[in-house]
Amino acid sequence: MIISIASGKGGTGKTTIATNLALSLGKVQVIDCDVEEPNANIFFNAEIKEREDVTVEIPEIDKEKCDYCGKCSEFCAYNALAVVPSDVLVFPELCHSCGGCEIVCPQNAINWKRKPVGKIEHGITNGVDFYHGLLNVGEIQAVPVIKALKKKIDKEGNVIIDAPPGTSCPVIESINGSDYCILVTEPTPFGLHNLKLAIAVVRHLYIPFGVIINRDGVGDKKVEMYCQTEKIPILMKIPHSEEIANLYSIGIPFVKKLPEWHEKFTELFRRIQEGVRT
Ligand code: SF4
Ligand code: SF4
Repeated sequence: MIISIASGKGGTGKTTIATNLALSLGKVQVIDCDVEEPNANIFFNAEIKEREDVTVEIPEIDKEKCDYCGKCSEFCAYNALAVVPSDVLVFPELCHSCGGCEIVCPQNAINWKRKPVGKIEHGITNGVDFYHGLLNVGEIQAVPVIKALKKKIDKEGNVIIDAPPGTSCPVIESINGSDYCILVTEPTPFGLHNLKLAIAVVRHLYIPFGVIINRDGVGDKKVEMYCQTEKIPILMKIPHSEEIANLYSIGIPFVKKLPEWHEKFTELFRRIQEGVRT
């Protein structure tokens, strides 16, 4: 079963939920897809044993064949090509490797070269089979690294995906194909606003979902009221607690020190499993 953990914005406690749920389950695979800022391994401390480069294909113009007709740049929706009188400029960071420029080129003047955009790393700790991705500095496209990470998913086992924050392409790539999505939010007007955006995404992808309210007690009841009105299950509330915050600040998942939460996360997983089956 694949459970993704997402939220409309960063800093809501998404990684806290992913790590504590994983450690409560024992044998599980965790994929940290927040490739611009992967931080789950601060809590797992998995020793990285394997690394793989992630590369994408970028066009390379054969200037012997090119007649500078401009068809490739007209086609490219991402403005990754610019044709000037005696050159074709390629902007690799804008290219989405769609291959369209090659198809439209009448001179067969487009070849391909591979460009590294990031890497994925793997380690095992406390029964957790851990992967994360790292986008190279200066790269703007997280999706190829996330796609490479998702190829590592063991479909036979239980998998937790820690999605990037927000609601853009990297989030959709991360959570697409999940059996269930946990949306993490805070009980504030801003939290509610971002939760609504995240709900629109998971509904669009037809992924069953529920909500965890983190730092319960800091704000108001509008998130709860909204979930009740929309018949969205509130899976868990994690109180605004100094003890939990202190443990987080020193990189200790709170299930390690507060065993009652271990049981709560195990029970949460059981409920999600049952819900998905029905
Ligand atoms: S479409 Fe082909 S021939 Fe025309 S400018 Fe682009 S690379 Fe050159
Ligand atoms: S592969 Fe696609 S995105 Fe990249 S330059 Fe060609 S048309 Fe543009």
